[in-house]
Amino acid sequence: MSWTLPLPEVEGQISLDRPLADLTWLRVGGPADLLFQPAHMADIGVFMRALPEGVPVFPIGVGSNLIVRDGGIRGAVVRLGRGFNGFEVMANGNLRVGAAALDAHVARKAAAAGYDLAFLRTIPGAIGGAIRMNAGCYGHYLADVFVSATGVTRAGKVVTLRPHDMEFAYRHTALPDDLVITQAVLAPPRADPQKIEDKMAEALEKRAATQPVRERSAGSTFRNPAGFSSTGRADDVHDLKAWKVIDDAGLRGARLGGAQMSEKHPNFLINTGSATAADLEDLGEMVRKKVFQASGISLEWEIMRIGERLREKE
Ligand SMILES: Cc1cc2nc3c(=O)[nH]c(=O)nc-3n(C[C@H](O)[C@H](O)[C@H](O)COP(=O)(O)OP(=O)(O)OC[C@H]3O[C@@H](n4cnc5c(N)ncnc54)[C@H](O)[C@@H]3O)c2cc1C
Repeated sequence: MSWTLPLPEVEGQISLDRPLADLTWLRVGGPADLLFQPAHMADIGVFMRALPEGVPVFPIGVGSNLIVRDGGIRGAVVRLGRGFNGFEVMANGNLRVGAAALDAHVARKAAAAGYDLAFLRTIPGAIGGAIRMNAGCYGHYLADVFVSATGVTRAGKVVTLRPHDMEFAYRHTALPDDLVITQAVLAPPRADPQKIEDKMAEALEKRAATQPVRERSAGSTFRNPAGFSSTGRADDVHDLKAWKVIDDAGLRGARLGGAQMSEKHPNFLINTGSATAADLEDLGEMVRKKVFQASGISLEWEIMRIGERLREKE
């Protein structure tokens, strides 16, 4: 669409009708009406307050858990970059990290300083997305080390979020979709740097052996069916694995257009090179339907699908 509303006066960069495919891991999707890359935190408040009421705002990280649909996003997308990737050991021994800092970089810097965030080493997102999604693997979760986060609301107000505001659960928090997280304070356990390095190297090896880490994917497509632990605590140690029910339904390697369920890990949806967002989403929906027919299990999407489908030409 062409943007006809007044543009907020900000120090960061505003791009209109900005394609988003190159900002996501799956490399698909249409444009955002407006993409805002703020210069600093106060800039986000200025932007939010000046943006006409009713224009939706959606923050993105590095797009490692997203399918942006082919018709793109009506509204404003906020993406943090330089200026939001700090890493600091605080006087009280906690870590302050910027929301745009990559999980892997944070894990490595933390290890060098003797803090164990090894579980973040193999997650390809940035800290804002890790908080929003309660990212985790191999039995460890962002929720376990979370002290607080700073964010900016759609009204432009700076807020501090504490654990009770988050309602952390399996790949879930209770944050509004339009709240932009700018930084977090984490309290990881202390450990010997070499031991953490070894743990990270082992995790990388394990990933490479079991997942299509060189393909374009967005990680696990569906949640493992059990979903939540009985205590409500975030927990992904489930007996029933999504990859197994997909495999049992004969869908390992299933294809639609340029989309494929990975041969290596059937719960990874991959773009083989020419996929559209519709190919990926439609293949996912076909898998959900066939798994339900085969086993009665309703798979739930873990990958977020955002934006509009491309309208048919009249
Ligand atoms: C190969 C591969 C392996 C993966 N393995 C794992 C895994 O083991 N465990 C796991 O948990 N995930 C995994 N993922 C999924 C993904 O990396 C995580 O969900 C990650 O936390 C998403 O971060 P992101 O920066 O890419 O966020 P995006 O995908 O850009 O966005 C995801 C969500 O976070 C929100 N968000 C992002 N940044 C902000 C911000 N600054 N403020 C507010 N909201 C924000 C978005 O609005 C959206 O709701 C994997 C993905 C891939 C491609």
